[in-house]
Amino acid sequence: MSATLYVGISELVQPHADAGSSRDPLSVTRDAALLVRNGVVVAAGPRELVRSVPDVAAAEQVDLGGRAVIPGFIDSHTHVVHAGERVDDLARRARGETYASIAKAGGGIRRSVRHLAEATIEEIAQQSLPRLDAMFACGTTTVEVKTGYGLTPELEEKHVAAIELTAKSVKQQLLPTLLAHVPVSPTGIEREDVVRAWHDTVIPKLAKRVRYFDVFVEDGAFTADEARKLCGYARSHGLGLKLHVDQLRDGGGAALAASLGALSADHLEHTSAVGARALADTGVLACILPGCSLMLRDWPNARALREAGCEVAIASDCNPGSSPLVDLTLCGLLAATQCGLTLDEALWGITRGGAKALGLHDRGRLVPGERADLVVVDHTDFRAIFARPNRPPVHRVIVGGLPK
Ligand SMILES: [Zn+2]
Repeated sequence: MSATLYVGISELVQPHADAGSSRDPLSVTRDAALLVRNGVVVAAGPRELVRSVPDVAAAEQVDLGGRAVIPGFIDSHTHVVHAGERVDDLARRARGETYASIAKAGGGIRRSVRHLAEATIEEIAQQSLPRLDAMFACGTTTVEVKTGYGLTPELEEKHVAAIELTAKSVKQQLLPTLLAHVPVSPTGIEREDVVRAWHDTVIPKLAKRVRYFDVFVEDGAFTADEARKLCGYARSHGLGLKLHVDQLRDGGGAALAASLGALSADHLEHTSAVGARALADTGVLACILPGCSLMLRDWPNARALREAGCEVAIASDCNPGSSPLVDLTLCGLLAATQCGLTLDEALWGITRGGAKALGLHDRGRLVPGERADLVVVDHTDFRAIFARPNRPPVHRVIVGGLPK
């Protein structure tokens, strides 16, 4: 593959490897250039410096016309591959019903479970592709995707197959996660049998087809003890750990994620100062989901998480009920306006933060050796990416060095 030299870059935004404790987790180089070879960044920085790299003359030159360049966005928490919509749930929510009462009435996760059971694998993939296309158009180049609408071993395997089929037709990379969502089963088996099925069947059978294991720890979902048991077993199968915690109340979930050495603890709407410190001390990413907060009117305090020393990632939680959002720039904007982050911290959270929340070391920045996944902003000022949520000013998205 030939090399490409990108010039005409007004601002090249470089997230720091670690968010640090300051409010300034990025560096910005003006009048920059970027040299890419075989899909990987070879050099990035001031134009004259990049032009002095050996063999640069052999590269094809592409002028970006004075636009800002930022790393491609990494959505570290989604349920984007699913069947059906939950319009009834939306109507109930608009009438003031709660997450719990909607679930009790047969909506929520159980409705998505029925939709998944009734659709074919091909139909699930077909319904998911437009959502992933919309994510890509907003600059998202890596997407974690959870199962969890199967519940039974057979339907969880179907959900994995639907993610695999979807992944073949999208422009970005999909990274699958097995999600133990709720300990009930459409076939009515007992709670202990559901946990046993995850332990004896789902994890050992499907671990090789996914990268991560996630468990929803909450009243009405799995207990901390159940999560501990399943996470330990998933780790022994080589899976990275991620947890849904402290969404509806402080259940000590952040401390649980810290004790398990998870990659990230996600949600955190009700995490205590003790939980935040546990995440900071262990380097577990704090991942907030502002789309879900927007729908449920329950915001995490990301400023407090940062002040406790946490690194904060931001993900869409794209799902058919509590967060229909696909646009990480909107999530970043909400993280800033509603949760207390600066725009620089928000950009860190959807780039390097997303990568760290997935344990990925090859993306999220534009430094030599990392993947050339990038967003060309249709503006000289990179912060403009947050200024038009749902239709962010994306001039071009490049994955592995190639325009898509
Ligand atoms: Zn979720």
